[in-house]
Amino acid sequence: MTDPRPAAFETLAIHAGQPPDPTTGAVVVPIHQVSTFAQDGVGGLRAGYEYSRSANPTRTALESCLAALETGAEGEGHGLAFASGMAAEDTVLRALCQPGDHVVLPDDAYGGTFRLVARVLSRWGVEHSTASLADPDAVAAAMTERTRIVWCETPTNPLLGVADLAALAAVAHDGGARLVVDNTFASPYLQQPLRWGADVVVHSTTKYLGGHSDVVGGAVVTVDEELAEDLRFHQNAMGAVAGPFDSWLTLRGAKTLAVRMERHCDNAEALVAALVDHPEVTAVLYPGLATHLGHEVAQRQMRRFGGMVSIRLRGGEAAARRTCERTRIFTLAESLGGVESLIEHPASMTHASVAGSALEVPADLVRLSVGIEAVDDLLADLDQALDA
Ligand SMILES: *Cc1c(COP(=O)(O)O)cnc(C)c1O
Repeated sequence: MTDPRPAAFETLAIHAGQPPDPTTGAVVVPIHQVSTFAQDGVGGLRAGYEYSRSANPTRTALESCLAALETGAEGEGHGLAFASGMAAEDTVLRALCQPGDHVVLPDDAYGGTFRLVARVLSRWGVEHSTASLADPDAVAAAMTERTRIVWCETPTNPLLGVADLAALAAVAHDGGARLVVDNTFASPYLQQPLRWGADVVVHSTTKYLGGHSDVVGGAVVTVDEELAEDLRFHQNAMGAVAGPFDSWLTLRGAKTLAVRMERHCDNAEALVAALVDHPEVTAVLYPGLATHLGHEVAQRQMRRFGGMVSIRLRGGEAAARRTCERTRIFTLAESLGGVESLIEHPASMTHASVAGSALEVPADLVRLSVGIEAVDDLLADLDQALDA
């Protein structure tokens, strides 16, 4: 590992963990599509690589880059890349929890996270409660003697709630737990939770980090050496690693994260400004709005407010479904964070699995993942789709 070297985010994204290939001079990290590595004598590894589940050079480059993006310095922190965001989450939960332990989840957690804890880890004796993360006192009240993790998303999906990371870190640490932050929605360009006291950051790199809707992946970053070692043990033992080509695609996406995020934010802000006055829209959920409950906190801990916008419609569920089916540039699809704009109806799509639970979302809600197309085209598209 090199000495921690601070650099601007944009520079780290392009160079951290990615020096020109020492053998050929290739300026892009090669796709080391290989399972095993020749040894010079028994146990004589040439470059530390033995078998690609344990470590692979393309994955190492991505892992180093992700650690640099979350910590702000090359060579600081530890990154791990996984086959999906859920694989990353599963590995963190298993490394930190044993039977009888307890996890506090956001009351509007990503549906997959809720399902993993409530329906898979529950079988292995891991218990959970939900709490509104906008209220640190409610989080403290939800903790038990056995709470090992306070799980945080900010902004949340799909209601764009904001949690105060520094306050939650204090609450978690007071109760002997760790603060794990799913930083998928903000991306490290807009928010670096480790700086606010979080112990672990997880990502679905499928979203903004990959950024092109062409790869599924996950990541974990921590600066805790001992925890990183245990996470690496679990990553290798459980085996849900990112493959070489997936690692390469994610690394390619990460290089342009800063410029993409600026454009996502520009476009989202322009759409929000138009939507707040739209006669068919009853509410616009966006942390950049001064009227948003979490605006001040978001302003403090985020660089800008992101590319995700949710709206509620006067015409209820019927209008929400109709709008999703009428757009021509916004594609009706799950997922988010790609260069192309997506639209979806959370109640019947991404959040169908939480219907009837505390995490149920309103049926008149439409979620937009605002892409980087020309903003006038996006405005015109929404306008024609919202027309009653
Ligand atoms: C998509 C998503 C996940 C799950 O990641 P996958 O890559 O789909 O496994 C977790 N958290 C959030 C906030 C997400 O949007």
